[in-house]
Amino acid sequence: MTNKKKTYYSNSLISPIYQTATYYFQDTAQIIKQHEQEIKLGRYGRYDNPSWLEVEEKVAALDKMENALIFPSGMSAITTSLLTFLKQDDKLLYTGQTYRNIRKLCMDILSKIGITAVPLYQSDTKQFEDQFKARYSEDVRLVFIEMPSNPHLYLVDIAMIKEQLRDDTLLIVDSTLSTPINLQPIDFGADLIIHSATKYMAGHGDILAGTVSGSADLIEQIRNYRNVTGAIVDPNTAFFLNRGMKTLPLRMNHLNEVGLKLARYLEAHDKVRQVYYTALPSHPHHALAKKYLTDHGGVVSFELEAGEKETTQFVDALQIPFMGTNFGLADSMIEQCAIFTYYQLTPQERAEIGITDSLVRYSIGYEDDVEDIIQDLEQALAIL
Ligand SMILES: *Cc1c(COP(=O)(O)O)cnc(C)c1O
Repeated sequence: MTNKKKTYYSNSLISPIYQTATYYFQDTAQIIKQHEQEIKLGRYGRYDNPSWLEVEEKVAALDKMENALIFPSGMSAITTSLLTFLKQDDKLLYTGQTYRNIRKLCMDILSKIGITAVPLYQSDTKQFEDQFKARYSEDVRLVFIEMPSNPHLYLVDIAMIKEQLRDDTLLIVDSTLSTPINLQPIDFGADLIIHSATKYMAGHGDILAGTVSGSADLIEQIRNYRNVTGAIVDPNTAFFLNRGMKTLPLRMNHLNEVGLKLARYLEAHDKVRQVYYTALPSHPHHALAKKYLTDHGGVVSFELEAGEKETTQFVDALQIPFMGTNFGLADSMIEQCAIFTYYQLTPQERAEIGITDSLVRYSIGYEDDVEDIIQDLEQALAIL
């Protein structure tokens, strides 16, 4: 027994999770209308799910773009977007001090399909700009900038880059660390904006997701690619992302405040050699931060006046943050970068991207008061 003419009501304030892979049509005429885009209905679970739409609209609105897509991880958002626009013999320029898997994607995967990816190190702004001018050529199809970078929070003069780009070069900005609350890349000419929504957007450390936003035309091209490659989010994940995003401004405002206090405390401590936080005048890109960022976020990286072993003792002595890699969740997280995320690299490779033995990344959660966090740091620094 089937009832092909389903009717139901819903005045639920919260949108349902559409746990479906399948859609049905009233009649053949409706199928034709759907093909002709006269009506918008679901066709098949790899192309559409209503659970995605509310999130995609929200991301587009936050990024001030026409449209957005969600993905099952930040990396899948990046991979799908890059592969949509790159072809054999194309060149890609990217910030060399970047999320490690973006580097791996460029160095190990894109190179296999005949795409040349050139890293430009951004720690030294002058050198970055010189390198950019030297390497920007006819075959560069895409420029990929992580802003701010992880873990040093390095910045790039995006508007300066944009000015030099031909119309056929796309500018992609991964602004996971700043979120739309602290940076609006569209104001400086970004064509596509990417977020690892796993971090602040979802905000609770319980899902992986990614987003890309851009003009309707660019997003449509990526959507066509996603329809084929199948990098789609399950509806439950979309629900959690949607829920998490409702508190994004609240959480970021809190982290901006706590981040600054923590950075100032660390900078004043004599066991701390260098703090990487863009609000501090001592950050190498503080001037760029004034131009681009409205605030500075919840990741504070710092180097201790200590070697590798003492730094390990310090992170082991901390009581509040969990040791692990992720940020933008309720719990604070700590990692000694050389021993966690960058463990597989050779010392030379680490040196090349500025990962020293005593570099620590503290990502602030929302569960603890800043006074408690500082007290905890104080007792751990005291053992050095
Ligand atoms: C975490 C991260 C990614 C990758 O996102 P996943 O959701 O882990 O796949 C990409 N870019 C930046 C800046 C990140 O921090």
